[in-house]
Amino acid sequence: MPTKQTRITQQAGRYGEFGGQYIPETLMHEVKNLTTAYEHYKNDPEFQTELRTLLQKYANRPSLLYHAKKMTADLKGAQIYLKREDLNQTGSHKINNVLGQILLAKKMGKTRVIAETGAGQHGVATATVAALMGMECEIFMGELDTKRQALNVYRMELLGAKVNSIKTGTGTLKDAVNAAMREWSRRTEDTHYVIGSVMGPHPFPEMVADFQSVISQEIKQQLLAETGKLPDAVVACVGGGSNAIGAFYHFIDEPTVKLIGCEAAGKGINTNQHAATIERGSTGVFHGMKSIFLQDDDGQITPVYSISAGLDYPGIGPQHAALAETKRAEYVGITDDEAVAAFEYLARTEGIVAAIESCHAVAYVRKLAPKLNPDQIIVCNLSGRGDKDVAAIARYRGKEIYD
Ligand SMILES: *Cc1c(COP(=O)(O)O)cnc(C)c1O
Repeated sequence: MPTKQTRITQQAGRYGEFGGQYIPETLMHEVKNLTTAYEHYKNDPEFQTELRTLLQKYANRPSLLYHAKKMTADLKGAQIYLKREDLNQTGSHKINNVLGQILLAKKMGKTRVIAETGAGQHGVATATVAALMGMECEIFMGELDTKRQALNVYRMELLGAKVNSIKTGTGTLKDAVNAAMREWSRRTEDTHYVIGSVMGPHPFPEMVADFQSVISQEIKQQLLAETGKLPDAVVACVGGGSNAIGAFYHFIDEPTVKLIGCEAAGKGINTNQHAATIERGSTGVFHGMKSIFLQDDDGQITPVYSISAGLDYPGIGPQHAALAETKRAEYVGITDDEAVAAFEYLARTEGIVAAIESCHAVAYVRKLAPKLNPDQIIVCNLSGRGDKDVAAIARYRGKEIYD
């Protein structure tokens, strides 16, 4: 992040003590190649024009900044604006990053991309852009997740990708990341690993944040055009942290803008069923980076839980670890119950069915808005659409839609 906040950066890819490149020797060469290529293309006007065109003509940017007047009237406080990343092609913010990385991979002469996926959202976005750009595509997904998200597995296959079911560990997201890293270290000549969040070794956190920063760039322009003001608060959900860093990015150096990340508190942070990394985690090294992780006393990564498959990652990107440490951003836990209530609330008040991940942010807005005045503004990032969650929410309420 080329901002004042990150001049705490001591060396490339460090955010305070966090970040870095903790990778096996076999990957060092390729990660250096990638760093050099990214340093070049991020300042290449032709690359930036191509990416901007794809974002506009393919992904449907700029996404709307919607003044949620009914929610505002109901909560009797701050003006609420929703940033509609749910309206992007493939239904979430993930496409912003995937378009950037696959375009870069193509420039590097790669012909094949691989990616990890948990719920399947990042896998679907990667398979989509691979189809668009004529790249071979393989997705790594935990076995348990392939069963929970069978529809997305078929969707990826429909888009021409091969889906590998990973049977090691708990058969979930962290095991999929391990498998994709292993595959990448075996085959780098023709293959780029499209990491799906602000995680992994440098340059991934920086690169993914740059690609997602389009979110706050648009928020700033759109809100200034409509109100002439900056927001008083920006609220986003945090899994690995990519939609949140994208929504925060251009406000990090605006001290009047409060930045709030919402983590999954699952069944409660005092249970062992949550994914509240910042509230309950500690510093460690995993998946190529130094950051904050949920781990036991021996440094073993602990299982995580959330009703939202997109938030149950046991770590967080290094930029968020640094923003939390310097207290520039605040991180709060939102339980399953609160997120589900917000899912239903948003549907009924605004006619928007948002992803259960995004509804963690909506739940916090419901608490914050009444404490502020009508001349203040909250922007809530709606990271994705909720069609994928309808059956699970019905089940949560005791209704079986499928047998
Ligand atoms: C993947 C996903 C998330 C979580 O990922 P971040 O990197 O934390 O943004 C949040 N919302 C949606 C809709 C997702 O698909």
